[in-house]
Amino acid sequence: MRMLVIGPPGAGKGTQAERIAGRYGIPAISTGDIFRANVSQGTPLGRQAKDFMDRGAYVPDELTNALVLDRLAQDDTASGFLLDGFPRTLPQVSTLDDCLAEQGGALDAVVQLVAESDEVVTRLLKRAELQGRSDDTEDVIRTRLEVYREQTHPLVAVYADRGLLVSVDAVGDPDEVTERILTAIGGRVIG
Ligand code: AMP
Repeated sequence: MRMLVIGPPGAGKGTQAERIAGRYGIPAISTGDIFRANVSQGTPLGRQAKDFMDRGAYVPDELTNALVLDRLAQDDTASGFLLDGFPRTLPQVSTLDDCLAEQGGALDAVVQLVAESDEVVTRLLKRAELQGRSDDTEDVIRTRLEVYREQTHPLVAVYADRGLLVSVDAVGDPDEVTERILTAIGGRVIG
């Protein structure tokens, strides 16, 4: 099973990706988590990524693509994976396409988590209080939403054209959202 989760910041991608990956017994790969781990360990990659992340901008494709190719080359992805937060740009889509073509694999589903801006801003401000992420301030949140709209939302149409898109309402109780996703994916994979 090869999947990815796409949606605006605050839609619950991280939480849902972990749960869905757990159900399918595949690794959830979050580029945001990998970048944050590098920042906190002060690695060269972390030092390069930090400034972009703090501003709510995307880390350049070159760095992000290299990181993902490296991660997808690890053995635990042999039976599948769930990408959380990648791809986010059209060049990243091409990189993933090429990587899958080389492996002789293909995506099974692209889960789009749908939530309005007001809803996700409220959630992100709440997360800021709980986790204190440096990119969860109100200004940076607005920038991240704008960047998502401009650079990532167009990917939804790309995957819809390929017949891979599964759109799920991400508003409501997280357990219910998980069930909605599992039902929607099950329907797609079987049907
Ligand atoms: P996330 O935890 O997915 O919200 O990601 C946090 C931050 O990491 C983003 O705002 C970006 O700065 C960076 N990031 C994560 N994934 C990507 C990606 N696929 N392309 C570029 N930047 C990314």
